[in-house]
Amino acid sequence: MAALDIVRIPVLSDNYVWLVHDPESFETMVVDPSVADPVLAEADRRGWPITAIWNTHWHPDHTGGNADIKAKTGCEIIAPAAERERIPTADRLVKDGDRVRLGSHVADVWDVPAHTAGHIAYHFADDAAIFVGDTLFAMGCGRLFEGTAEQMFANMQRLATLDDATRVYCAHEYTLSNARFAVTVDPENRALADRLVAVEAARAAGEPTVPTSIGAERATNPFLRAPTAAELGRIRALKDAA
Ligand code: ZN
Ligand code: FE
Repeated sequence: MAALDIVRIPVLSDNYVWLVHDPESFETMVVDPSVADPVLAEADRRGWPITAIWNTHWHPDHTGGNADIKAKTGCEIIAPAAERERIPTADRLVKDGDRVRLGSHVADVWDVPAHTAGHIAYHFADDAAIFVGDTLFAMGCGRLFEGTAEQMFANMQRLATLDDATRVYCAHEYTLSNARFAVTVDPENRALADRLVAVEAARAAGEPTVPTSIGAERATNPFLRAPTAAELGRIRALKDAA
């Protein structure tokens, strides 16, 4: 099985759309297209026909390109079953335990509610990759718009079961702000302090800081490291007020 080609497309102020291509089947899918044009242009430039869109949740910065990309390519749109009313462009609705495919690459769907009530993630176990939308960020986690700290804690606990080498594809470049906050709640963490320095340098040079990895998050992410749901909720509230 040839490795997936995964391309980052920066759009809007801080979103990343992921273009994922299987070189064997030539199938190509888009995770969370905020907008259509830059995604269509990148796929075109590479000669990759877009065959699917996979949405993690209904927010417009994750689904705004759905209709135009579908109109131009005829692709299938896969979306969380629990958000069907809010993603009217969806063709196929999925939930925890379902499997979706890109060629011979298989992703397991995880329910990860909290940022939105029906948020899902796509885990390619054999590829050691997970697309988490707005659930886990580098040194951060999504805001609790439609769910609870208990739910987000359960999501973090489940993500923490993955191997350190698992690549985490999140949907925003929030890393620098997350790192600056993280050091205030975990000031003794040397790995975190070092990562802040590295991230400051990367951003000053205009470089992206994602994907991240489960290992990096296990070492530095205060939300993934929170020992209880109450602690996660406490630091999430602090971050919201920061
Ligand atoms: Zn969102
Ligand atoms: Fe978002």
